[in-house]
Amino acid sequence: MEPVKAPATLMEAIQYFSDPLTCIQFFAALRWEDGQAVCPRCHSKRASFLSTRLMWKCLACKKQFSIKIGTIFEDSPIGLDKWLCAMFLIANCKNGVSSYEIARDLHITQKSAWFMLQRIRHAMHTGTFNKLSGQIEADETFIGGKARNMHSDKRAAKITGRGPKDKAIVAGILERGGNVHAVVVPTRRKQALQAEIREHVLAGSAIFTDELKSYEGLDEFQHEVINHAVAYVDGEIHTNGMENFWSLLKRGLHGTYVSVEPFHLYRYLDEQVFRFNKRHTTDADRFVQLCSGVSGKRLTWDQLTGKDDTSRPDKDVVSDV
Ligand SMILES: [Zn+2]
Repeated sequence: MEPVKAPATLMEAIQYFSDPLTCIQFFAALRWEDGQAVCPRCHSKRASFLSTRLMWKCLACKKQFSIKIGTIFEDSPIGLDKWLCAMFLIANCKNGVSSYEIARDLHITQKSAWFMLQRIRHAMHTGTFNKLSGQIEADETFIGGKARNMHSDKRAAKITGRGPKDKAIVAGILERGGNVHAVVVPTRRKQALQAEIREHVLAGSAIFTDELKSYEGLDEFQHEVINHAVAYVDGEIHTNGMENFWSLLKRGLHGTYVSVEPFHLYRYLDEQVFRFNKRHTTDADRFVQLCSGVSGKRLTWDQLTGKDDTSRPDKDVVSDV
């Protein structure tokens, strides 16, 4: 197989992936060592490619398998040409891409496009990285519509318990010049916010926050507070990097997606975090990194719509938003 050559622009991607065999070769080269197919059933590397069927036949267990097995594409009737173009779009559009746009561009239904996008976001979930260090900004923000604009049934269904009634709270931690970590939290209280900081920031790092009382007591860090009632910046004491991330997130959520169920909010966070943390690379590289994340991940319709929520990493956390 040829080495992976990723398209640099959407135009190139559309052209490049218009050939089904190219799609398979491209993805096989990313997925398997030297592009050598591995049987999903018996893990044998002895498989021959059936060029008429665009599938492999395992020479050990004699079963046939497609490139989609064991990835977010499994069971999808949509071709890899469309999947890969959708992935190119979502990897590189700063404000995200709505399911309506994808549906129009790829000639599929909006429901299919929505399902595709949620599975792509599942692949964008990067999980844990090394602890953040150096200069850190921590901040939190509210996400969500106004309850008074909601129908009363919907309001009753969504609003249960604590916090500003109709809003979800997102905690963010940013290493200046590096990665951001953002997650839905149940409250703005000390315990919730500081747990995230302790889990994701190296002790001894400099942490900049606003004057919210929940940040008091971060004693193992060099904690500096900017009092927003007085000033927004005091030398290096500010949270402008986090503010920048929040504005990107909200531009996507409010501008592109218009409305996001609180239930699905963490997936949109994953999407924005993915793009933000790979902001210093090229469109082609960001796309390849996304493609590298689709194997070993599956997301079924039932998991996505809540009938089976085992795929939700923070299912306990968001139960009240
Ligand atoms: Zn096999």
